[in-house]
Amino acid sequence: MTLKAILALTQVAILAAGMALLGTLVVESFERTLRADADQLLSARADALEATVLGMLQTGAGDPASFDPNSPGFDAFSEPRLFFEIWDGEGRAIAASPGLPAGGLPWTDQTRAAAESGRPLTESVSVNGRRARVVTRPIVEHGRVTAVVRIGESLQAIDQAVNDLLRPLTVGSVLVLLVCIVATWLVVSRALDPLEEIAATAQRIAATGDVGLSVRPEGTAEVRRLATSFDHMIGRLRRLLDSQRQLLADTSHELRNPLTVIRTDLDLLGLDLDAETRQEVAAEAQEEAERMSRLVADLLFLSREEEAAVGDAEPVRLDRLAEEVVERLMALAPEHEVRAEDAGPVVVLGNEDRLRQLVTNLVENGIRYTPPGGHITVRACRPDERTARLEVADDGIGIPSEHLPRVFDRFYRVDPARSRATGGTGLGLSIVKHIVEVHGGSVWAESEPGVGSRFVVTLPAAPPDVRKGAVGEE
Ligand code: ADP
Repeated sequence: MTLKAILALTQVAILAAGMALLGTLVVESFERTLRADADQLLSARADALEATVLGMLQTGAGDPASFDPNSPGFDAFSEPRLFFEIWDGEGRAIAASPGLPAGGLPWTDQTRAAAESGRPLTESVSVNGRRARVVTRPIVEHGRVTAVVRIGESLQAIDQAVNDLLRPLTVGSVLVLLVCIVATWLVVSRALDPLEEIAATAQRIAATGDVGLSVRPEGTAEVRRLATSFDHMIGRLRRLLDSQRQLLADTSHELRNPLTVIRTDLDLLGLDLDAETRQEVAAEAQEEAERMSRLVADLLFLSREEEAAVGDAEPVRLDRLAEEVVERLMALAPEHEVRAEDAGPVVVLGNEDRLRQLVTNLVENGIRYTPPGGHITVRACRPDERTARLEVADDGIGIPSEHLPRVFDRFYRVDPARSRATGGTGLGLSIVKHIVEVHGGSVWAESEPGVGSRFVVTLPAAPPDVRKGAVGEE
């Protein structure tokens, strides 16, 4: 069953139950009031009839002829809805109203008990299949029941009044219910139709893979929010797919170059070359193969990084890490002056291996884009309580300002030939950016062509207690 039908049915069921309860209460209270009024009137009539009969008993000394129902004494009780019976103390009927149906007023056990004990009684009985109220009044003289007066009134008028009330009440309730069903259907449709559109769009995307589809933010606030979130999600998916496609295209492109060189070199090696040329060709093939390996390693690193969160963050001494990387790379770049400046302990929370990779990439770039004899300086410091800062500066070739915003993009190279010649994969800075972002920091570059470049990384500093622990451990 659809949500729309469930909502409409639930509302109608609650409304119907509520109206039925209310209707029953109204009708019952109306009937009770009418009956109380009728009982009061009947009781007054019974008083009068009792007084009349008592008067007749006393004047006529029990002569049955004096109980002629047509005698003027009974005129006051000759209304068509009223009927009465008079019985003597021996249980003989001595008078009855002319309109009384054949068989007279019924005697129940209660009536008999009341008549015998001299107790007055008001009860509901059925006279000729119609409901009636009957008052039984035993007349007691000198401790003996000398007569029993019974006067009854048909409840037809009350039943009629109740029916007259019930009919418009029922018709009105049914009308209200119908209006309610239609109104609920319309309102619920208006609220839920956009949901169906979202579901249909999701199905279409699943079936066709077309992430260019979107939904209109319509309907209630919640549905609009859902539509907007859905659109955001699709937008993100679209960008993700685009970047995956782009990555695939870029990667194929990047791999094609070294493969072409290696194939050409292999062809050349098949020719009759002198020993020196042969060695050069083999070295070139070797170099290209190494570059391909580095590229594949960088790509693998990036793809694993994108899947993983930072993992278990541990306190890392950024200053020690910088020193360690500098020491290692210094040995590999004897023609450059690589050094780490000591600015005191700097502790961050993060993954040590990834942070080491970050520092390595920046220092390697410094070496790669600085001519021999140039300087590369690494400095870790804490400009304020909450920030850790790492700066890698060089006095190398620099980066023209128009390239600066894009150097962190994948495979972006200012000078592709130079990057390739120095063994770059074009992924170093995008890996740096990713690691920094995963650690909640930011990175930017400042540079002047011919003067040098400075790469600045800021990360959240470890809280004081962690910091003290990490520094104290030394
Ligand atoms: P690559 O493998 O080409 O070095 P990166 O992503 O590490 O790739 O760097 C992207 C580009 O940014 C490089 O090709 C280079 O042109 C430029 N670049 C990076 N670091 C420096 C630097 N220290 N000095 C000058 N140019 C740099």
